[in-house]
Amino acid sequence: HAAFDVETIRKDFPILKRKINGKPLVYFDNAATSQTPQQVIDVIVDYYSNYNANIHRGVHSLSQEATDAYEQSRQKIQKHFNAAHSHEIIFTSGTTHGINLVASGFSSLLKVGDEILVSALEHHSNIVPWQMLCERTGAELKVIPMNEAGELILSEFDALLNENTKLVFVNHISNALGTINPIEYIIEKAHAYGAAVLVDGAQSCPHLKPDVQKLNVDFYVCSAHKICGPTGIGMLYGKEKWLKALPPYQGGGEMIAEVTFEKTSYADLPHKFEAGTPNVCGGIAFGAALDYMNAIGFNAIAKYEQELLSYATGKLSEIEGMKIYGTAKEKTSVISFNVGNIHPYDIGTILDKMGIAVRTGHHCAQPIMDYYQIPGTIRASFMFYNTKEEIDVFIAALKKAIMMLS
Ligand code: PMP
Repeated sequence: HAAFDVETIRKDFPILKRKINGKPLVYFDNAATSQTPQQVIDVIVDYYSNYNANIHRGVHSLSQEATDAYEQSRQKIQKHFNAAHSHEIIFTSGTTHGINLVASGFSSLLKVGDEILVSALEHHSNIVPWQMLCERTGAELKVIPMNEAGELILSEFDALLNENTKLVFVNHISNALGTINPIEYIIEKAHAYGAAVLVDGAQSCPHLKPDVQKLNVDFYVCSAHKICGPTGIGMLYGKEKWLKALPPYQGGGEMIAEVTFEKTSYADLPHKFEAGTPNVCGGIAFGAALDYMNAIGFNAIAKYEQELLSYATGKLSEIEGMKIYGTAKEKTSVISFNVGNIHPYDIGTILDKMGIAVRTGHHCAQPIMDYYQIPGTIRASFMFYNTKEEIDVFIAALKKAIMMLS
């Protein structure tokens, strides 16, 4: 795609031709899962049609082809995130798996009196594993608070940091509000106290291209299904020194050097963290998804998505009783809102009848909903294949729903 041509791009996505309840699909639930272009679907079909095999074990040709493609994909991911080594990229089943792998590993490194900081803007998958880690180790979980705009209060973060802080967890971008968090600042400050930082990139990777070396981040996790790839695959980036220090997460095949009943020695990175037969096809398709997005270009994607965001925000703001949550200066194409006292679920149900897919509920971020004292919101989230025309359809349908429910 030479210039940013959304109509050409849309042709890559077969699902965008679907009708829902007799109406053309308007897919605004991208923060939950993005759609998959034909280029990635073709890679999946090609894998199962032509070289499906188990990897890293066989001397036969199919196994070698599958292994090569899987490892090439790891290198693509390394390059995309600018990791220093390909063995710093661990394939996982997704963001949740990556976070649990790190949280489990830190069990042996923490003790009573240690402190873990987590932000008020987290997804449940970046809260619960740390609570479980605290239960195992006696470490204490502390929360970096947020303000009305949906931004972290950095002065409070500064005040929470001390010599006992061992870990800091924050998402790069909030899935519920779209806030882009100042992770550069957080990483630098945390490092000054010797704390490691894990950044949850589930919502950032679809919209920007993180450079893990420039960020100097210790761990970075994401899921391929939010970046035009398949479900069930993701990656954990970890600095080599940390991945060497952490014990394995799961035992099994692939992750050992030698096994006897007396003692087992573990394989080198990255295999130490990749027990069992991995999602070979998913790993290969993950690389293809990054190829697809890089061919369009993340600068072009970000610029276009910001246009969609400001267009939709403007149109929504004209609606009476509209309350948009999360008004941070730095945010991506996610809009969380409520209208008057109407329950989000009722609006979502009517929108679905008109072919429009949005998310309703607490978005796995109940602490944020508690902050605003609401049960949930309606969330519309855009990707580069959405259009202003779709936003117009959505706004008209929303107005109709409001009329029906008021
Ligand atoms: N963190 C954030 C910020 C997310 O948006 C999500 C997905 N909604 C996750 C973590 C969990 O990702 P997954 O379900 O793919 O493991």
